[in-house]
Amino acid sequence: MRLTLLGTGDARQVPVYNCSCPACDAARVYPSRRRGPCCALIECGTQRWLIDSGLTDLTERFAPHSLSGILQTHYHADHAQGLLHLRWGQGLVIPVHGPDDPEGLADLYKHPGILDFSQPFIPFERRKLGELKVTALPLTHSRPTFGYLFEGKGFEGQGRRIAYLTDTVGVPEASCAELERAPLDLLVLDCSTAPQPVAPRNHNDLTRALQIIERLRPTQAVLTHIGHSFDAWLQAHPDALPGAVSLGRDGLVL
Ligand SMILES: [Zn+2]
Ligand SMILES: [Zn+2]
Ligand SMILES: [Zn+2]
Repeated sequence: MRLTLLGTGDARQVPVYNCSCPACDAARVYPSRRRGPCCALIECGTQRWLIDSGLTDLTERFAPHSLSGILQTHYHADHAQGLLHLRWGQGLVIPVHGPDDPEGLADLYKHPGILDFSQPFIPFERRKLGELKVTALPLTHSRPTFGYLFEGKGFEGQGRRIAYLTDTVGVPEASCAELERAPLDLLVLDCSTAPQPVAPRNHNDLTRALQIIERLRPTQAVLTHIGHSFDAWLQAHPDALPGAVSLGRDGLVL
């Protein structure tokens, strides 16, 4: 099982248009510091699923028939905008599994083109996609949102569990319980901002993210959905992340 992070920015991405904070300035100089909108790829055996579709150049990155389908966490534009162009392809059907949210990015449901939205997940549903097992875990966000637990084989044939949880503030108790049924090898988690004095409404800050990591105790934790101010804050606080926690970046293979 292999997870590749393709886009690790928040809705504004890094650099933010017309921002000259240290993170945005650095991202303009060093391409590796840029953060695109939310998108990842999970591969297991013959299965190859995109997780979210925030990138707007999907038709150039993925040749026809190279994806098994798409798993949407939710339908905010920064996670789904790549579908607006992809749908107008022809001669194939791409399954898109996610929460049932007809109002999410309504034009997609009205004019789905080659996208097939007919099999949304129900909360805690476990689906077998070839060699890959996927469980949809409800998260706490401003739209219906699922995190995903992936279970499959590692490179040496051993069982692996990977959780991808964004967007969310905290993790609901029932979803935590499902994740705690066995050890997690990897947790990719929403951490949009530096520590905030008051709990944010829709996303984890670093304080909440570390609390979740402390509870779920994955072997490795990687933060994603990172905003430019958090990147800038980390430049000034380089020791803020504990040992087993690292910062996601676009192109990172896990
Ligand atoms: Zn988002
Ligand atoms: Zn900035
Ligand atoms: Zn969102």
